[in-house]
Amino acid sequence: ADPTLADDVLAGMRDIPDFPINGVVFKDFTPILLDPSLRGRIVSDTVARQRGRVDVVAGIEARGFILGAMIAHELGVGFVPVRKEGKLPSAVHKMSYALEYGTATLEIHQDAVSNGERVLVVDDVLATGGTLAATCDLIEQCGASVAAIELVLEIGMLGGRDKLGGYDVHSILTV
Ligand code: AMP
Repeated sequence: ADPTLADDVLAGMRDIPDFPINGVVFKDFTPILLDPSLRGRIVSDTVARQRGRVDVVAGIEARGFILGAMIAHELGVGFVPVRKEGKLPSAVHKMSYALEYGTATLEIHQDAVSNGERVLVVDDVLATGGTLAATCDLIEQCGASVAAIELVLEIGMLGGRDKLGGYDVHSILTV
């Protein structure tokens, strides 16, 4: 247990008003990446919850790659990148969705996860939930199952959790 983790994460995040468009307050977690101790506590906290429960970690481009790869390494399991359209070289499944700002399409390699595997999905921020819902859909298109979703920060008033009904969603901090 790490009782001060949520407070320390809150102190470590930075609000950037009007990025990438007017009216959005961007929750910037890059200061946390610069802090090996705090970064390590986020990984340890997540790994303690998920050890033995997952076969593979999927990270969402781009910040989910950073966190997800560290978590996969500590869990001793594989890592799968979920990428924006046109970036993955082999055959993909794709899913389009609405974002807090604009629309987007995500892709996963069709052979990245196999039938019956339990996948842990990792990203930095849960906003409207569209990105995570699309990612979970992609994992299920591959025949695998979403064991849990782990986030650093959840923006509660955007209601993203409502789009993820049925999944085990954990955020270190909700604002
Ligand atoms: P959403 O699909 O609306 O839940 O958006 C989640 C994705 O967009 C995540 O990959 C986040 O990193 C990013 N994102 C959306 N809104 C914000 C925000 N206000 N601050 C930081 N990241 C955000």
